[in-house]
Amino acid sequence: MENCIFCKIIKGEIPCTKIYEDSKVLAFLDIGPVNKGHTLVVPKEHHETLLDMPDDLLAGVAKATKKIAKAVKEGMKVNGFNVLQSNYRVSGQIVPHYHVHIIPRLETDGLKHWSQGKYGDGEAEGTAEKIKKAL
Ligand code: AMP
Ligand code: ZN
Repeated sequence: MENCIFCKIIKGEIPCTKIYEDSKVLAFLDIGPVNKGHTLVVPKEHHETLLDMPDDLLAGVAKATKKIAKAVKEGMKVNGFNVLQSNYRVSGQIVPHYHVHIIPRLETDGLKHWSQGKYGDGEAEGTAEKIKKAL
């Protein structure tokens, strides 16, 4: 993909701070870290979202994510981390090349999870039906 910033990083046209590389995956530090050590895990092939990812490549990214998350936890000496992945603009996906965020977490970082709602009477069942019909 010609104008994709992550494809340019993968081709070496734009620099990155590399953490890990194998034949299918590149991982590098996010340029705007939520916390220090925030790492992106990216397939070398261009696919836009989770729904576009071939299953075997997805498995390769998941395996690399586990390995790198362990190293982020140990290397950054943190007690936990978030693994986040956004799909489509409405979700906050800015770079349209599939990627996984590994964000080291600190007890003191003050980050909050999103707020949660409630289902009304019978609403959960109806909601589940809509999803199950599309499976
Ligand atoms: P997302 O909202 O999931 O699409 O996040 C894209 C992430 O890519 C953001 O956290 C950016 O800080 C990060 N990013 C954008 N350009 C670069 C770059 N050149 N090197 C490293 N990270 C980048
Ligand atoms: Zn790309």
